[in-house]
Amino acid sequence: MQEHVPYYLQHQYNLYDRTKKSGIRFSCNYPEKVLSIDNQGNCFLCICDGWLPVSVGHIMSFNTIEEVWQSPVAKSLQKDIIIDKSFTHCSVDYCGIKDYNCTSDSYFISINIDESCNLQCPTCRDHFMNFTSGKIYENKLVWAKHIEKLLSNFNHKTIIAVSGNGDPFASLIYRPIIMQGKSNIWHSYKITTNGLLMKKLLRKTSIYSNIIEYSISVDAGDADTYEKIRLRGKWNVLIENLDFLHNDLKDKKNIKVNLNFCLQSGNIESLINFADLVDHYNWQGTIQPLEDWGTYKDFKQHDILNTEHELHNKMLEQLKVVSLRKNIWLKTRLGKLIKNSTDKK
Ligand code: SF4
Ligand code: SF4
Repeated sequence: MQEHVPYYLQHQYNLYDRTKKSGIRFSCNYPEKVLSIDNQGNCFLCICDGWLPVSVGHIMSFNTIEEVWQSPVAKSLQKDIIIDKSFTHCSVDYCGIKDYNCTSDSYFISINIDESCNLQCPTCRDHFMNFTSGKIYENKLVWAKHIEKLLSNFNHKTIIAVSGNGDPFASLIYRPIIMQGKSNIWHSYKITTNGLLMKKLLRKTSIYSNIIEYSISVDAGDADTYEKIRLRGKWNVLIENLDFLHNDLKDKKNIKVNLNFCLQSGNIESLINFADLVDHYNWQGTIQPLEDWGTYKDFKQHDILNTEHELHNKMLEQLKVVSLRKNIWLKTRLGKLIKNSTDKK
């Protein structure tokens, strides 16, 4: 199966155990319900291509969305994960399968074909990226138009997520999908964004009335930390956009907003302010651990989950405080960490 792991995900593949697992009592149906398309156009069958970095083919090689789940590699993953429950190629310590079922009733399509962004966060990239012309831009635009066509013929209940690795509003490549795509009653959208262009563009999108969730990466609770962690970002612009969204959603029901905080050494002092920000809007706040995506040369310096890190104990204290807030959700590993450190006392 490793031959289907693209070269740029070999690092990720080799980081975790890729042998048959036993004793996992929970179930996962993602390999027959989920499609994630990455920035090279490769298709994966998990919500995170790092967790299951096996490509089932390039999006341009499929004529319908259904074909993706029928490919030989897809069939083999479905057997291993859904039928045999061996989870051979899965990152089971990270994806949650040891703690809960990873199942979805509707289809889930995550489109991550373009890294273009108006920010340059060090957790994500070491240089600024925004494709507006040239070969890469033209290729990706062809993929975007193809994906839009595939989606317009996919009449099944589906949540479409845009985008996990760039900003959908800052990118020109996502325009065929979010600005010119046809609205389909079967499709709901989950938008992941840094939020900074919502005020300018949100209401102009063709999918506006189909958006059911906003996931906004913030990573801070004050201007100093924000502008250090979210390079090129301006705190006052963020607040202006969050206020806009809050006002825009005033009369709408059942639309979720989640503010994200990726825990690292550079923002630990800002965690409580972040929880206050979440409470201010009465949205949900998710705190997640920093993962090694290969973007940091000195990952250990930033990884305060490491018990040897000098800020580890401080992190535990702050995390315990915010874990008591009703609007804050700790991703599984962090929840366990707090529980274990409390049990030890
Ligand atoms: S078991 Fe985990 S890694 Fe494998 S497909 Fe399911 S969620 Fe993804
Ligand atoms: S806002 Fe998101 S996509 Fe953009 S650079 Fe930061 S982490 Fe990456």
